[in-house]
Amino acid sequence: MMNKYDIDESLIGNSKDSLMTFMYKMNKNTNGIVFVLDEEGKFRGVITDGDVKRALMTGHTLNEMAEPFINTASITVTTEEPEASVEHKFAGKVCIIPIIDKEQKVVGFYKKEASMPIADPQLNGNELNYLLDAFVSTWISSSGYYINRFEEDFSAFCDSKYGVAVSNGTVALHLALVALGIKAGDEVIVPDLTFAATINAVLHTGATPVIVDIEENSWCIDPKEIEKAVTPRTKAIIPVHIYGQPCDMDAICAIAKEHDLYIIEDCAEAHGALYKGRKVGSFGDIGCFSFFGNKVITTGEGGMCVTNSEELSSLMRKLRDHGMSKERRYYHEVVGYNYRMTNLQAAIGVGQLEKIDTILNWREELEEKYRTMLAGIPSITLQRKDLPERKKVAWLVSILVEADKRDTFMAEMKQSGIDSRAFFIPLSQMDIYRPYARECKVSKQISQMGINLPTNYRVDEGIIRKIADIAKVW
Ligand SMILES: *Cc1c(COP(=O)(O)O)cnc(C)c1O
Repeated sequence: MMNKYDIDESLIGNSKDSLMTFMYKMNKNTNGIVFVLDEEGKFRGVITDGDVKRALMTGHTLNEMAEPFINTASITVTTEEPEASVEHKFAGKVCIIPIIDKEQKVVGFYKKEASMPIADPQLNGNELNYLLDAFVSTWISSSGYYINRFEEDFSAFCDSKYGVAVSNGTVALHLALVALGIKAGDEVIVPDLTFAATINAVLHTGATPVIVDIEENSWCIDPKEIEKAVTPRTKAIIPVHIYGQPCDMDAICAIAKEHDLYIIEDCAEAHGALYKGRKVGSFGDIGCFSFFGNKVITTGEGGMCVTNSEELSSLMRKLRDHGMSKERRYYHEVVGYNYRMTNLQAAIGVGQLEKIDTILNWREELEEKYRTMLAGIPSITLQRKDLPERKKVAWLVSILVEADKRDTFMAEMKQSGIDSRAFFIPLSQMDIYRPYARECKVSKQISQMGINLPTNYRVDEGIIRKIADIAKVW
């Protein structure tokens, strides 16, 4: 698909600028290209991220002037060229073509996108500045300024007192379970519709997972099913705020209280979601987050445990770092792990966290746009956002269609260059987890109907219109 865009400062460079300046501009414009102008502001050529990469690989440095690396033979079109004929000019690796007016000025560009991905991290704030800062400081391992700041700022964002940054969301769950003393012989209740990491973390402690069904309206773990699954061996519940939707925390907390169970919230898909005005992650004993590349905010790989318990936070810190005593170096008090996050990852995280409200807003606005444009198409049902007490976040825009049409719908989107993702396969439908499952009718049905739609900042009304047009045919 081809789109037309306007020019801004980050797309324009001067041949005397350093390659570093060009790299910063590409990071800002997220297009991997900068148009180079001469002294009179006339178009001279382009520099792409590939050009910079090749320069570095042949022994040049980022301090050098861009001049020798300009590609002056790049393809261009004039303002008069009809859009239909531009399509044919995209060939080989060319995916951006500048539009040049009569005075040789760049006035815009066409971009051909091979496909519209599901998710795409937005790293054009201070992420690169902080990352370079951490790099230059040589604090590139797992201590440093950014780790502390990321832990403090993210836990505060989650209405929680303490944050323990870890290498990914899966080990965040495992660390939480271990810190709560979950072990072989214990039972831990998990929802059927979730990513495998939730149950894997339980299995790695030696405890027995108990898989229960979900609610039809929220797609989250069903408190009534939790109640039915509690036994004298049950030690913990892991509610998963699936696809950004908060679980029914009042009901879950009540069950946990009655039966003396721990709650570990799996918030990997729900940074910033609210239940009764309070952030998810702050209801249970420990809240676990992921910062994988496709999550609400990212550090590349990364995760965090948040808690209000000083004791749990100290224990998780110790376990994260080989179980080493805080007072006596290299004296190990418990059998621990290396689950640490690096200062480099945390630097990206701080850059992301600074603008999390903006990120959550554009996500919500995009979902609203989908909601408006897909409204009235009978074959599509959007994820609920009107459940009492719950304020969801838009992680991946999620819809239900008729189960027997789901795969065709996805295939047709794919043909139009639009990526989509089927819902998670319920745990109960996979051989390795089936032995732990109770009856899960709702999740089986929902998962066969569910699709996650592209949720990234490049999705515009044109893309949504295409999706609507495909759906309307039925
Ligand atoms: C992504 C995800 C995880 C795991 O996070 P990683 O950082 O990829 O290890 C856990 N639970 C759920 C529900 C997730 O979506």
